[in-house]
Amino acid sequence: MESAVVEPTQACREAERKLQDYVDRCLTSVEITRIEEHLAVCERCANCYRFETQVRSYVREACAAEPCPETLKVRLRSLCVECEADDRS
Ligand SMILES: [Zn+2]
Repeated sequence: MESAVVEPTQACREAERKLQDYVDRCLTSVEITRIEEHLAVCERCANCYRFETQVRSYVREACAAEPCPETLKVRLRSLCVECEADDRS
């Protein structure tokens, strides 16, 4: 039943998990390449990445004054999951 075009959920989970580190440039070049490859073929994760970078730039401004709120990361994650569920319906 599954479309061959859709990446395995496992790959998405891995990309999702490393997305924050990817944005932070905290990954090895191998990991970066792997995520970039996944973002290239997975629109869902690519959207998450775009969203993440947008929020990052916003957070960077907001955090100029105060420490970065950990809750924001959690909210980000749930948003990502929501768009994922939305995509699957
Ligand atoms: Zn994906």
